[in-house]
Amino acid sequence: MTSLHESDPQVADILDHERSRQAYGIELIPSENYASQAVMEATGSIFTNKYSEGYPGKRYYGGQEYVDQVEQLAIDRAKKLFGVEHVNVQPYSGSPANTAVYFGLLEYGDTIMGLKLDHGGHITHGLPISFSGKSFNCVGYEVEKETGRLNMDAIRELAIKNKPKLIIAGYTAYSRTIDWKAFKEIADEVGAITMADIAHIAGLIAGGVHESPVPYFDVITTTTHKTLRGPRGAMIMCKNEFAKDIDKAVFPGLQGGPHDNTTAAKAVAFGEALKPEFKEYAAQIVKNAKKLAERLMHHGFNLVSGGTDNHLILADLTNKEIPGKIAQEALDKAGITLNKNTVPFDPRSPFDPSGIRLGTPAITTRGMKEAEMEKVADFISEALDHHTDDEHLGKIKGQVKDLCNGFPVPGIAL
Ligand SMILES: *Cc1c(COP(=O)(O)O)cnc(C)c1O
Repeated sequence: MTSLHESDPQVADILDHERSRQAYGIELIPSENYASQAVMEATGSIFTNKYSEGYPGKRYYGGQEYVDQVEQLAIDRAKKLFGVEHVNVQPYSGSPANTAVYFGLLEYGDTIMGLKLDHGGHITHGLPISFSGKSFNCVGYEVEKETGRLNMDAIRELAIKNKPKLIIAGYTAYSRTIDWKAFKEIADEVGAITMADIAHIAGLIAGGVHESPVPYFDVITTTTHKTLRGPRGAMIMCKNEFAKDIDKAVFPGLQGGPHDNTTAAKAVAFGEALKPEFKEYAAQIVKNAKKLAERLMHHGFNLVSGGTDNHLILADLTNKEIPGKIAQEALDKAGITLNKNTVPFDPRSPFDPSGIRLGTPAITTRGMKEAEMEKVADFISEALDHHTDDEHLGKIKGQVKDLCNGFPVPGIAL
């Protein structure tokens, strides 16, 4: 980035600091990952200069011969990766993708059903203050108090009672596998459209370590930057019967010109996910999460649902008597990044909840395996045991840096 250093040393300096933060810290935020150098090169490419409202072959501007090629390539690769009938790769991010589905398939005031935010859902799945909550009649389902898991019988009862037009499955803080078939059966019973939001688990599905909703669901949205390890962005996949409505909702319904540089990077990321190595990566994410969970439980951590089947872990720190916010801040000082999170039935507020949420996509990308997961859990436990002792946290930060030195981040040359 020599030209940035010359033209804008202030921004370049901030980027340098962020680069070393990413390289020398343990990144456990389960929605984050390290995109490859190739993905970042495409993101930072000359396609940032282009406008291309419309779709390949049907644009409103000239000069589309190469944009059309790259968008079609992204679409074709996504179709191959997930085995879907139709793909729209233009949504700017996960929230606009979900909004486009509602805009395309629902009328204002329709009833939709998704998991409550404080039980692991997403703001776009019906949080009252969000666009979704203000525009639709949102019915929230919950996880079961005793098990921390979805109870499909309870969800069925709620659906029969409320007759939603759309049922959403797919979450931000749920560590167990999702029974797509059971959701589809409930939806068929009440005549609802099914939407899977696989933002978190898309990479696991592409890698074959979580069942795919594709055989069952009508519409599937996903971000491209979480386990899928691409650029920040999203896509919508659907059955052909919904294709026209979805495409019209994205453009011109909600968006103008797509971000063609991001589209190019999506094509690169899907190409990477089609390689056999990606299957190994996805499998290792889950192995690492299971090992990390096991070791945290060994240190007395109380995990919601008692463990994990996927890439993430939700820990309730009530028994440790450390609020999630204080835990997050202490771990930051130890070079470990994760987020405070509500746990189901949390008596505390979302700004200072009872839990923390952590996951393995990023540390698995840098090559860490089971042995390192034990060390990571040990660091977390030690840091929380000494959460008021800045000197001790600083000492752990040094050990974290030593561990990270052995696992260079792809795309970050230091
Ligand atoms: C991350 C996420 C989104 C939203 O993605 P943004 O790109 O942050 O808008 C939507 N749904 C789920 C389940 C997510 O985890």
